[in-house]
Amino acid sequence: MTQDAKEIFEAVIDRVKVLDPVNSRSWFDNLALKNFNGGMLEIICPDNQSAAFLQDTCISSFNLAAQQITGHLVTIKFIGDGKVPKGRPAGQGAAEPKLHPDYTFDNFVIGPCNRLAHASCIAVSKSLGTTYNPLFIYGTVGLGKTHLLHAVCRETQSSNPKAKILFLSCEEFVNRFINAIEQGAMSEFKNQYRTVDLLVIDDVQFLQERDQSQEEFFHTFNALYDNQSQIVLSADAPPGEIPSLPERLTSRFKCGLVARIDAPTYETRIAIVQKKAKLRGMKVSDDAAKYIAGKVKANIREIEGALTTLYALAGAGGQEISEELAKIALGDDETRDKNITITDIIKAVTSYYEVRPADLQSKKRSQSITMPRQICMYLARNLTSHSLEEIGGHLGGRDHTTVMHACGKIAELQQSSEKIQLQLAELTKRITK
Ligand code: ADP
Ligand code: MG
Repeated sequence: MTQDAKEIFEAVIDRVKVLDPVNSRSWFDNLALKNFNGGMLEIICPDNQSAAFLQDTCISSFNLAAQQITGHLVTIKFIGDGKVPKGRPAGQGAAEPKLHPDYTFDNFVIGPCNRLAHASCIAVSKSLGTTYNPLFIYGTVGLGKTHLLHAVCRETQSSNPKAKILFLSCEEFVNRFINAIEQGAMSEFKNQYRTVDLLVIDDVQFLQERDQSQEEFFHTFNALYDNQSQIVLSADAPPGEIPSLPERLTSRFKCGLVARIDAPTYETRIAIVQKKAKLRGMKVSDDAAKYIAGKVKANIREIEGALTTLYALAGAGGQEISEELAKIALGDDETRDKNITITDIIKAVTSYYEVRPADLQSKKRSQSITMPRQICMYLARNLTSHSLEEIGGHLGGRDHTTVMHACGKIAELQQSSEKIQLQLAELTKRITK
């Protein structure tokens, strides 16, 4: 393999970090080049989970980054560690559970709000079926239920590679059940669920309006329970308070351990900000972390949103986020969650740089127009969920590669120029106000 291939690979990773601030992770630095032959780039990932995460979530950013760097289309292949646990059930649903690489016990911050839930999840993954069965975790949205459930599966997978694990959202369970009925495949369905060592079902409150699925779930539950297979469930309310679930089902849910997760305290939130920042390879000053923790109270998911905005502002280069930058970017009023449109961005940018919207959409290529145009593209990419094509469409019908190029360029400038960084912060503040 040539030196070139290695350089191209590294440039692609750097570009992905810029193009995909939401999904960039610090472990991207642990990706390694297997081979690049011009047409295919094979990337070695730390494990199967990260390979699956990249394939599901980041493939389009990798494709675009590779296209930008090499100037032509490149096929990307992510390779895991190849450790496929033996003894997985065959047939439909036999695929390994798709576990988020960040959702591990190590990455879970423990506080008074979640101590019991966390400890019971650890206990369960150490000895399936014998400690608390079923384990029922509940709490409102965004408090870490799904995170803990993934961690249980992951831990079980590594300590007991032969265990048959099935992780499903309640919706998936219901859908598979309906499919099985339609295809007359009920006995396969039954066998598949009734022979696992660990069945994890997320958000069981969605069973409430599904009479037939409730019935099947009840039987599955009993079969697994009698077999001493481990069952872990989550919901947004305690078993008895999920409307319209029959008593016989809720009393089963209660017969093991029921653990509640509460909203995290200020100190726990600060620790979560720091943990999440580290996962993205960001440095956040203590004061900035306190500021973010003070703004985000009820739903930890919002911490991710705040960090994404800051990542985009500080650049992927790892510059420390100061309290001042956090304040500017996250604004002071509570209404900043409004939907930002490309029109808002064009308005703010044109008035800031004193150019006309028509100029941005024109073919003019003077520096005084090109720069604001590229900044528009960059902000639209980071503050809205529009695709590259849509952003190009709003800016004079430019194609997606032009938008990609602009985003990369501004992101680079931002790292080298404090002036640009401050301009972007000011614009972000005006747009999100
Ligand atoms: P739920 O399933 O309860 O709605 P999630 O598990 O999806 O919530 O969590 C939302 C986000 O908050 C995830 O990114 C998760 O990693 C994060 N999170 C929640 N609680 C914690 C915690 N104690 N430590 C670290 N991250 C957490
Ligand atoms: Mg969830």
